[in-house]
Amino acid sequence: MTTLPWINPARVDALLSALAQRILIIDGAMGTMIQRHELQEADYRGERFAQGFDALFAPEGHAHGAGCGCAAHDQRGNNDLLTLSQPAIIRDIHAAYLAAGADLVETNTFNSTAISLADYHLQHLVRELNQRGAQLAREACDVAEAADPSRPRFVIGVLGPTSRTASLSPDVNRPGFRATSFDDLAQTYREAVSGLIDGGSDVLMVETIFDTLNAKAALFAIDDVFEARGARLPVMISGTITDASGRTLSGQTAEAFWYSLRHAQPLSIGLNCALGPKDLRPHIDILAQVADVHVSTHPNAGLPNAFGGYDETPEDMATVLREFAEAGLLNLVGGCCGTTPDHIAAIAQAVKGLPPRQRPRMADAA
Ligand SMILES: [Zn+2]
Ligand SMILES: [Zn+2]
Repeated sequence: MTTLPWINPARVDALLSALAQRILIIDGAMGTMIQRHELQEADYRGERFAQGFDALFAPEGHAHGAGCGCAAHDQRGNNDLLTLSQPAIIRDIHAAYLAAGADLVETNTFNSTAISLADYHLQHLVRELNQRGAQLAREACDVAEAADPSRPRFVIGVLGPTSRTASLSPDVNRPGFRATSFDDLAQTYREAVSGLIDGGSDVLMVETIFDTLNAKAALFAIDDVFEARGARLPVMISGTITDASGRTLSGQTAEAFWYSLRHAQPLSIGLNCALGPKDLRPHIDILAQVADVHVSTHPNAGLPNAFGGYDETPEDMATVLREFAEAGLLNLVGGCCGTTPDHIAAIAQAVKGLPPRQRPRMADAA
């Protein structure tokens, strides 16, 4: 991976030089902003999916018709489909985060894998959703950059974890059972990565990692695609902590998580989502000490409350994350579930002028 040239060296130079100067701001939640639109089933479907299936696609040997079964899946809640059915909404959300001060925006592709899309019977859309998702983010970034050329804006092509874990059984009575495999994951991630690159991503991010084996499949797929193209993009890796013990679902501490993925030589390692910024503090501290790459965090706005909302205000989060920055822990910071452009604006303001974390010099650094 490391010997390959960059796909777009000028963009990487711009990113590295911005990282050397300041703490960069990642955007906030996509889902929280989509919720505000109170979209109904028909809105999710748009024109192309009005009948409940993709009017432009039928599986081989299948003809859509009355009772063919394809319309059995509600699309409401399929936020990634909005990239195709409501592109203006998605582009506007990116634009709102850029206006709030984000340097990097994440593509609306968190669930654009065959495994997640199978819930909606749309697993054939992996390539298209990832490519179009990256294009929408690219368009929004290009507009923001044209308005202020001194400030480059970057597209993070997002690879989500899928809803299945490759290293644990979901069934306590069948400990050997796996709902997905490394190979199945790698196959759909390869398709996703190709789409994200062709759509104009500047960086890829494997995020919300709860199972390190799933992440390894994503990184393996990324590597495959880079090898096939003879060129690469920078890669960000971000895990999540699933309980108060401070471990990932597959049982690793933040330190073990770093050591098991450092071979990928990422641009950054970090933690996102989880229980909110306060609970991530000790784990980000560890990463900041052990990792010889940039450190990122984009936490939730606290824990979900009884109504499915999030309670931490922009000021709450900004206050906590400012302390992270003052302690020298951050290179990139943003928000995950429950955060809005107001949160991102407050976080950007709070860390403004504070120096980025200095990477430790490692005696044994590769
Ligand atoms: Zn059909
Ligand atoms: Zn989250």
